[in-house]
Amino acid sequence: MRRLARDRFVLEMSKEHPPAYSIEEGERVIVECHDCHGGFVNRDGTVRPGSPGPNPATGPIEVKDAQPGEALAITIHDVKPADWGFIAGGGGGEPFTVIEISPAGRVEGRDGTATYPWGLRLPVNPVIGVIGLAPSGDPVPNTTPGDHGGNLDTPDICPGATVLLPVAIPGAMLALGDVHALQGDSECSGTGIECAAEVTLSVKRMKQALWPCPLILRDDKLMLLASADTLDEAAWKAVAEMAKLLTQLTGLSDVEARRLLSTVGDIRISQIVNPRKTCRAIIPKSAIPGRWPF
Ligand code: CA
Ligand code: CA
Repeated sequence: MRRLARDRFVLEMSKEHPPAYSIEEGERVIVECHDCHGGFVNRDGTVRPGSPGPNPATGPIEVKDAQPGEALAITIHDVKPADWGFIAGGGGGEPFTVIEISPAGRVEGRDGTATYPWGLRLPVNPVIGVIGLAPSGDPVPNTTPGDHGGNLDTPDICPGATVLLPVAIPGAMLALGDVHALQGDSECSGTGIECAAEVTLSVKRMKQALWPCPLILRDDKLMLLASADTLDEAAWKAVAEMAKLLTQLTGLSDVEARRLLSTVGDIRISQIVNPRKTCRAIIPKSAIPGRWPF
């Protein structure tokens, strides 16, 4: 399998960046990702000077023949965290809390463990914090989420998930990084267990973008990600956009779609710490029989 090295990265999603790599639809690749500080954190939790900036994302990865108006379906087959990571934020500066990660460890039936300094050992559940495509408008820094993807920090962007992003420019120009070995909804201290990682993925072109913002398919659930300046705005945007998507998929009226969402859907906080906040609306496959979009 081809490996895309982490030494080619971007700090913003921009139509101006030439591709670092080019892949074909259906090709499986391993994408090496830096941690959120570009590898400039020491094993004692201190930071060396010289970090390239927050959230270096490996890429841009051109997808051959991808065109604006399509969607790119990115299936995450595997995420292998490095053997250690760190947690920052929560009102404390350096040193960060260093976490040992063991890929061989096994607890709760799952491979890979994270060990906290006080001895707590938990199975890892890797999350890709930053994943996005180049927007057609102004560049978006990798600190910020939006309709193009970016710093979504959503725990459902994990192995087994497929992320659907609208293609805005020829070649799509995918970039990803900022992996977390563990992250809860909200990421309330400002980071997950930040770590370098190797992500195995493949992409599929969908001739028509289903929706102009990120979607996730995971565990028989359809999720829509909405980002806005405040948490309230992000939550209500997720409701409104999911209702619209449901009307399109099912033929229900807006009122019926909102009542369906209110009764069987969930609105969850993805993150409350980035320049724009992200919520996700989640609807089970069973609520849209025969209309699964992938
Ligand atoms: Ca992040
Ligand atoms: Ca992060």
